Amino acid sequence: MKFDIEFAQSIKEIREKSLGDRSHTRKVVHWVEDHRLRSGPGKAIVFILPTRGCSWALSKSGGCSICGYIYDNPKESDFDTMLETFKIKLQESIKESDIYSVKLFTSGSFLDFSEVPQDIQKRILEETSQYEEVKEIVLESRPEYVTEKALDTIAESTDISKVEVAIGLESADNDILMKSINKGFFWEDFEKAMLRITEAGARVKAYLLFKPPFVSEFNSIQDILQSVSKLNEIGVETISINAISIHRGTYLSHLFEKKHYRTPWLWSLLHLCNEIKSTYPHLRLICDVVAAGTQRGAHNCGDCDSKIIDALKKFTMSQSLEDISGDFECSCKIEWKSYLFEEKVTLG
Ligand code: SF4
Ligand SMILES: [Zn+2]
Repeated sequence: MKFDIEFAQSIKEIREKSLGDRSHTRKVVHWVEDHRLRSGPGKAIVFILPTRGCSWALSKSGGCSICGYIYDNPKESDFDTMLETFKIKLQESIKESDIYSVKLFTSGSFLDFSEVPQDIQKRILEETSQYEEVKEIVLESRPEYVTEKALDTIAESTDISKVEVAIGLESADNDILMKSINKGFFWEDFEKAMLRITEAGARVKAYLLFKPPFVSEFNSIQDILQSVSKLNEIGVETISINAISIHRGTYLSHLFEKKHYRTPWLWSLLHLCNEIKSTYPHLRLICDVVAAGTQRGAHNCGDCDSKIIDALKKFTMSQSLEDISGDFECSCKIEWKSYLFEEKVTLG
C-alpha cells in the first residue's frame, strides 16, 4: 500500500468541500517568459491546458496534501476549442529571432490518456513540432502514465529528443511521500519511469518539494540534499526545487490556517541552491518561488526578501553561483538559524 488510508481520508474530506466550486469551462491560459534552455537563454511559452485535471486529485485518495491545482481545472474539457486556441496562441507567440521551450501543462498529467486522450496528445505535439524555433518541449506526468504506449505516442508525433518529462517526485524518501504528501507512488516508481523515458530518448526533470507538512525546515533541507544526491546518481540532469506555497482547499491550507505550519524561509532556499550547485555544478538547477515574499509563500522578514528573490531568479537563468553567493546579510538571518534548530514537528 502506497498511501495511508486515514491520512488520505482527511485529505479527501477537505478536497470534496471545494471540488464542487469548479467552473464548467475554462480558457487556455498562456504566457511567454525568459527561460534558460539547455542550449542557452531563450524564451518559454507556457500553456495551461484546461483538461479535467489530475486523476490522483480526483480519486478516492483525495490527491496530494499540498496541491490545489485541481480547482483551476474545469469540470469538463472542450478539446476542439482547446486545440484551436492552442494553435493560434502558439503561432502568435513564436518570433523567428528566438529559441523556445514550449511547456504543455495541464495541472495534472499530460500523459494520462483519461485526462488528455491519445489523439489530442498527438495533435498538440504535432502542432508544436512544426516550428523550427521550438528546441524543447516540456510535459508533466505522474510516473504511472509513463507507459510504452505514451512514449510511442510522443515518438510518433515529434522528435522525442526534444522532449523533457517533468515528474513531481517531491522527495526520494518514501515515508515523506506517503505520510506527508500522500503522493501515492514511491521512489522506485519514479526510477522505473525515468528508465523508460531515457530509453525512449527523452529527458527527465524532477521537481522536489521544499518543506512539505510535518517535516521541519531543517529536516526538509536534509531531505532535499539526499534526494538530489539520489537523483544525480541515476542521471537526472534537471532538478527544480519548489518551495511550498499554500493552495486553498488543501490539507496543508487547514494546517496553515490553524497556525500549525510556517511557509519556508528564503534563507533555506539560498542555502540549498549554494550547496547543490557547488556539489553538482553540471546539474541544471531551477528555483522558481511561487508567492515569494508573502505569508503564503517562502519569505524572510520582509526587508531582505526582494534581493534574495531576485538573486534566485537570476541564478535560475544564469546557473552561476556568483549570483547567489554575494552578501545578503540581514538581521533576520540569526532568527532563521535558531528557527532551524527550534522548530518541532514530527512526521506523523
Ligand atoms: S501535486 Fe501533482 S499529482 Fe499531486 S494532486 Fe497535484 S497535480 Fe496531482
Ligand atoms: Zn531579513
